[in-house]
Amino acid sequence: MSLAIVHSRAQEGVTAPPVTVEVHLSGGLPGTSIVGLPETAVKEARDRVRVAIQNAQMDYPGRRVTVSLGPADLPKDGGRFDLPIALGILAAAGYLPKESLANYEFLGELALSGELRAITGVLPAALKAAKAGRSLIVPHDNGAEAALVSGATMYSASSLLEVCAFLRGAATLPVAVTPALDGPTIISELDLADVRGQPHARRALEIAAAGRHHLLFVGPPGTGKTMLASRLSGILPPLNEAEALQAAAVSSVAGQGIDFHRWKMRPFRAPHHTASAAALVGGGSIPRPGEISLAHHGVLFLDELPEFDRRVLEVLREPLESGRIIISRAARQAEFPAAFQLVAAMNPCPCGYAGDVSGRCSCTPEAVRRYRARVSGPLLDRIDLQIQVPRVPLTELGAAGAAGESSAVVRERVIAARERQQQRAGKPNAVLSNREAQRDCELTTSDRGLLERALDRLGLSARAYHRILRVARTIADLADSERIGTAHLSEAIQYRRALAGA
Ligand SMILES: [Zn+2]
Repeated sequence: MSLAIVHSRAQEGVTAPPVTVEVHLSGGLPGTSIVGLPETAVKEARDRVRVAIQNAQMDYPGRRVTVSLGPADLPKDGGRFDLPIALGILAAAGYLPKESLANYEFLGELALSGELRAITGVLPAALKAAKAGRSLIVPHDNGAEAALVSGATMYSASSLLEVCAFLRGAATLPVAVTPALDGPTIISELDLADVRGQPHARRALEIAAAGRHHLLFVGPPGTGKTMLASRLSGILPPLNEAEALQAAAVSSVAGQGIDFHRWKMRPFRAPHHTASAAALVGGGSIPRPGEISLAHHGVLFLDELPEFDRRVLEVLREPLESGRIIISRAARQAEFPAAFQLVAAMNPCPCGYAGDVSGRCSCTPEAVRRYRARVSGPLLDRIDLQIQVPRVPLTELGAAGAAGESSAVVRERVIAARERQQQRAGKPNAVLSNREAQRDCELTTSDRGLLERALDRLGLSARAYHRILRVARTIADLADSERIGTAHLSEAIQYRRALAGA
């Protein structure tokens, strides 16, 4: 019987479920039908595959060709199945040995000339292929991405003809390699040493990094809030191999490519407040990841927080808790990872100068209240560190030796503090459950009284109790202290005062 089976993979969120392409040749009127692809994709795939085979100087079978892609309920968009479909047709027609297909998986779009075109989402497919014990053959421009995965040999090819020659045993294919992986890996580019003054804000940034706490800067324009925020990813511990692969997989399915020189650098994403909801959290008829997923394992910076669409900000609450986002569309649903660390910045009032020594602010109390209310209480509740960033006096800016510590020095302390958390609880302090916080953040009776009085005075919710405990734990970890002391707790309470009006 003229039946050929080819292995390929679909793309669903950031995973790559297996797809089997079956091709059957039979008598009857010549023609090609494809089952299992959306109707609009069928015609295009049929035309590309037919012309590519003819342009590769091979005969398209003059029989009834039936192509079936299964299972039926997977998303199967785009041209990624062109190569496996073409190989299946050629194998069913006897041009390729059918058994040669068994140990490989194939992905790639065909140009009419028979050249292979790059596709998105190769990395997740390569990870799964390696797990299944098969080599993956991809278009040349996708080779470097496939080769990030260890455990299986990945091949790249420029054309349908090259793949056919390889499967016939008439030629070899180049083994895919990733450039620059052995060279020095860049883990940060912006240095904290560039930031003048602002010791309190620098301290808050270090605590945020050490405990993976979300952070809000409140201050007038031009005080370096953006400069500080954009240096957070550089003082975080570098990505480990697994995290780097997960972050790269999001980039891959988003069609953003992977920068191999920087692939262990934590992502830093800073979407503008005019960004659409789909751009920010993900969406589209074929769901694509948004900024919050591109910031997976890294930093999401939202400057001018109150200017963002309030509905968009509300959507952030779920991934802030769960580290993932589910995009629901009429056709299908996709889940993307979104374990980002949030850094936000805002002015204290509409004009930006409330509380400034210049006395420039003329906003009414009502206008200030309305402005701040654009950021909801439940969202603010999830931001452990909230700190004012005042303007730096000119004398301090000009002082010799005012340059702060470098990112590398701060990062050493952050890594040491993270290791303590890892050994104690297996996770950063910011994501301790309330029960774990209760267990690991023991206070003396008098310190507990101190915290309760502070909550009362600042008008904070009961939820803030555990949030402050976690920050105090991080401050104690930075000080290499087994117990949380009064000084640690007092400092943690300070980071809840920026918007509390105290
Ligand atoms: Zn003002």
